[in-house]
Amino acid sequence: MKKSKQVKTTGCVICRSINIESFEMYKHYWIFCSECGNASQLPRETYPLEFLIKIWNFPFLGKILSKFPFANTIKEHMQYFGKSLAAEELYDQYLNDGNINISGTAWEGIPEQIQDLLRKNDISLSTKRVLDISAGPGFVAKEIQKKCKEIVATELSPNTVSRMNSLLGLPTVKFDFNAEKLSEKFDQKFDLVMMRHSINFCNNVEDFAVELSKITNPGAVVLLSFVSPTLASCLRWQFEDYIYSFLFSKNYLEQVFYKRGFVVASCEIKSRRFFWSGKLFFLPFLLFYLSLNVFKKIDRSLKPKNVTMLFYKTVDTNTSQADQ
Ligand SMILES: [Zn+2]
Repeated sequence: MKKSKQVKTTGCVICRSINIESFEMYKHYWIFCSECGNASQLPRETYPLEFLIKIWNFPFLGKILSKFPFANTIKEHMQYFGKSLAAEELYDQYLNDGNINISGTAWEGIPEQIQDLLRKNDISLSTKRVLDISAGPGFVAKEIQKKCKEIVATELSPNTVSRMNSLLGLPTVKFDFNAEKLSEKFDQKFDLVMMRHSINFCNNVEDFAVELSKITNPGAVVLLSFVSPTLASCLRWQFEDYIYSFLFSKNYLEQVFYKRGFVVASCEIKSRRFFWSGKLFFLPFLLFYLSLNVFKKIDRSLKPKNVTMLFYKTVDTNTSQADQ
C-alpha cells in the first residue's frame, strides 16, 4: 500500500493552534489538536484501493475472477473501497421501508435512557416544550412526544422531513445547523433541547451555542451527546464516506457552553465495545492503519467513547441582544 501525501493544513480549524498531529485512515485524514483536544476530519480525495472495484468491470477479468471461491462475497466487500451513499440519503433508508416502529432499530432503548437521565436529575418531561435537533429518522422523538408537552424535530434531508411528518406524525422542520440559524427558524422558545451525536457534524460550535441560548427559556435543559476523540472511532468509521466531521473533547464543549450560560449538571462517559465488527475481510486494513497510527498523540483507546452531558441554562447571556 502506497503511503499518502501529508495533509496540507495550517493548523487546528477550531482553535487555530499549530500544535496538531495529522494521521491517515482509509477514507479520511484526522487532525488532532493538543491545544483544544478536538479532532477534525478531512475526506481523502482518492482512496488507496478504489481502483480494485473497477477490475470486476473488465469483461474477461470479471469472468475469470467470478470463478474463484467466495468471489461474490469479495466483490460485495470491495464496494467499501470506493465512494458510497450520499449523506442526505442515509435516514431515508429507514423510513423507506415503511417501518415506523422503534423496536428492532438502532434507536431502541434510547428514549428510556433519556427519560432515566432526566429523572435522575429531577427533570420532568411533562411540562417541557422540546426541540430534537437532527432527530432523523425520528423514532426517539416520537417516543418522547408521548411524554412531553410538545415536541418539534429537525432534520437535514427534505425527504426525511416529509416522511417524519407524514409517517410518524412528528412535527419536523428542515434545518441545517451549518447553514441556518436556530433563532431565524423558531419564534417560540424551548425548555429542553436534545442533540444526540449531531454536534459531531457542527462546523462552528461557538456560534451554535449562541443560537441555542437565543431559543431557550431561562432554566432550560440541553441534552448533548457526542463522540470524543479516540483512535477507535477513527479506525471504526474509516470505510464510511459520510462520518463525523469532528470528535469533540468534553472540556472544550463544556467551556463553549459555559460562555453562553449553560452549566453542566451531569456528565456520563460510556466506553462502547471494541470497534471490531466481526468482518474478517477488514482485519488486515484495520491492523495496517492501527500500526500506522498507534504512536500518535490521540487517545489510543480501542473502545469508542460516548459522552452524554446535561446542561442547565443558569444565565441568559442573550437577553440584552435578543431584546434589541
Ligand atoms: Zn484546536
